Amino acid sequence: MRNGNLFVISGPSGAGKGTLVRHALSQIDDAWVSVSATTREPRRGERDGVHYFFMDEDGFSAMAERDGFLEWARYAGNGYGTPRASVEEHIARGEQVILEIDMQGAFQVREKMPEAKLVFIEPPSMAELERRLRQRGTETDEAIAERMATAELELSRKMEYDKQLVNDDLESAVAELVGYINEQAQEQRQ
Ligand code: 5GP
Repeated sequence: MRNGNLFVISGPSGAGKGTLVRHALSQIDDAWVSVSATTREPRRGERDGVHYFFMDEDGFSAMAERDGFLEWARYAGNGYGTPRASVEEHIARGEQVILEIDMQGAFQVREKMPEAKLVFIEPPSMAELERRLRQRGTETDEAIAERMATAELELSRKMEYDKQLVNDDLESAVAELVGYINEQAQEQRQ
């Protein structure tokens, strides 16, 4: 059995982290993806406990206060956090635990667990990023502008991550991510 490891997948909203992680999962036997808590409203088709644990502000603050999050941050006006207990359980079971979180969260995780591997997912270009955000059709113009501004900031710090990966061609990006996770897990094996 491999040792458990923590991988943080981060990068601009619309860079395609979710799709990438979904495809990578089927190629890594012992991978587990954490389900975050958020105060944002569910998008159409999103289910509680599957895509997110949807919480109100009071519930979210209470969980943050009792140190129930490994990390948490505010993004575009909403709270997002990684439930600590389940992440710790899955690492202890020897799994490759994957968090799909924003940049603020990624650096908080590095502070608390310096052995975590931080992966930055880069969109092919800013124009393509905007096109993907618009194509989703779920965000207002204002929300898209806010996400684009945040993306600029995130891109300026990409070299602080352990690994950078451009999500241009999905198949090769998935192969690169799977390769990186397996290689790191192998190195950590006792
Ligand atoms: P969205 O609203 O598009 O689902 O997510 C917005 C941003 O929040 C994305 O960059 C996503 O990766 C990030 N995010 C999702 N869950 C968490 C979390 O638990 N913690 C942090 N810090 N960011 C998260």
